[in-house]
Formats: sequence, structure tokens, C-alpha cells
Amino acid sequence: MQEILTQKILLSHNNISVFIRREDLIHPFISGNKFRKLKYNLVQAKLENQETLLTFGGAFSNHIAAVAYAGKQYGFKTIGIIRGDELESKIFENPTLKFAQECGMQFKFVTRESYRHKTETHFIANLKHEYGDFYLVPEGGTNKFAVKGCEEILSRNDSEYNYICTAVGTGGTISGIINSVLPHQKVLGFPALKGDFLKEDIRKFARNQNWTLINEYHFGGYGKVNPELIAFINQFYLENQVPLDPIYTGKMVFGVMDLINKNYFPENSKILLIHTGGLQGIAGMNLKLKAKQLPIIAFNE
Ligand SMILES: *Cc1c(COP(=O)(O)O)cnc(C)c1O
Repeated sequence: MQEILTQKILLSHNNISVFIRREDLIHPFISGNKFRKLKYNLVQAKLENQETLLTFGGAFSNHIAAVAYAGKQYGFKTIGIIRGDELESKIFENPTLKFAQECGMQFKFVTRESYRHKTETHFIANLKHEYGDFYLVPEGGTNKFAVKGCEEILSRNDSEYNYICTAVGTGGTISGIINSVLPHQKVLGFPALKGDFLKEDIRKFARNQNWTLINEYHFGGYGKVNPELIAFINQFYLENQVPLDPIYTGKMVFGVMDLINKNYFPENSKILLIHTGGLQGIAGMNLKLKAKQLPIIAFNE
């Protein structure tokens, strides 16, 4: 893989320096960590001679968009099991689902109640009965192949950083990063949702203990935003020309900047932020914000 752009962020506080790794630029549609997470899953699916990828996600899921495009690019049929049966009639009002459908993804919309059973054997068996055989990519794409792909985010040249910071959803990305850091480096994860289950999920994959989850910056939960976060994202773009998404990277970078101001990091720290992508979600978020007459993310318009 080509070297990924690393940009310096404007800052003057305690001689701390902050850099951002632009994984969002890896691919125009399979962005950031979703590319990393799919890579070895696609290899495995080919090895198993599978022709279809089946996966799960919510209405604005970066993962659904990434799997749909990957299927189109690498020659797999794709099926998306989507949370929320009310969405079936709204595909064209939803930029993520519209994009996935244009890539050829076939949808099955299920109720929230039914979606909760998605990892159970009878649920999967019913899907096999309905669609025939498929390669199952879990929700958010996290499994051992995804973690392996995320172990490639950092390279040997990154030993100069003391802290590596990333947004956390299901924990696959941070697990890969944790497995690839050196003993003098610490990984900080910023969950984009409320929930104590994450630590356990990360322990399943992570092979060392140089990590901490910082739970204060989920802004009320998954997909929740407030005007302060949106203003921060817009300001960050003006100052650094780096677009952040409101679900993951915006919250993480907000958290890091806030912690810097609160002197969480020692003087002279060198911090690397991982831009995990997710920019396709901005269009959907802006539609929701406009409907509520709230400020929107300006650089996407
Ligand atoms: C999916 C996603 C994450 C979360 O990754 P996990 O491996 O599920 O923790 C973080 N950032 C962005 C932009 C994402 O799309």
C-alpha cells in the first residue's frame, strides 16, 4: 500500500504536537478503516470460493457503503441486512442506502427487535435458506481478519509518536492498532457510543495492555451530535483543511483537543490521530440537521 498522508495540526500548547493520518484518503468509497477491515475478509471469501458477501448495518452505516462498493469492485454479490423496517420505503431519501443500492447491494430490512438476533444460529440459518451460501461479514466488519488488516495502519516509521488516538465503534480498529504499537506508545480509544461491553470485545483481539478507553466524548450516544460538535468540525476544517465526520472522527478529535486543553497529555507529547474515514455519512447527517433547522457541516455542501 502507498504511504498515507500525515498532516500536522495547528496547535500551541505545552509544546505538544499533533498529527493526523489521513486514512480517509485511502479510497474514494471504501474509506479509512473499512478498507483495512475488509481487505483480508475479501481474500478469505475468495479462498472459500464465495460469490456473495452478506453483512449488517444501520441506516447511515459506513460499513454498508464500503461492502457494497467492495462487492462491485471485486466481483461479489452483496446483501445488506438493514436495521429498521421503516427504511424500506425511504431508500432514495437516504444517501448511504441509495449509494449501496446503486453499487448493486440487495437489502433485507428487518425490525429493530429482529436485528438484535442477527448473530444467532437460527437467524443465520434462515438467511442461508433465503439467499443460499454466503460469506458473512459481521456488523461493522469486526473479526480476526479485520483486526489483521488494521494492524497495517501503523508502520515502523511511527515509533516517534507517544500517543495514538482513534475513534471506536465495535473495537476492531483499535485492536489492530493496539497489536502494532511499541512498548513506549499508548493507544487512546474514543468510543462513539455508550456501552461498557467494548472493553471485553477489545480484550478478545488485543494482545497487549497499552490502551485506555475515554468515555466522555460520545455526545449522548451513537449518531448523536450537538451544535458545539458541528461548530468544532467546521472550525477544524477551516483551520486545517481536514474534513471530519460527525459520528466518529469528529468526536475523537474534539476529545483529544479538549484533553490537551485540560493538560491530560504531558509536555512535549507527540500525538498521532487516526482519521478512520466516514465522510460519506455527512450527507445523511446534514439532511437530519436541516430538517431540525440546526447548523450543518459546511464543507460538504
Ligand atoms: C466504523 C468506523 C469506526 C469504528 O471502527 P471499529 O473497528 O468498529 O471500532 C471508526 N471510524 C469510522 C469513520 C468508521 O466508519
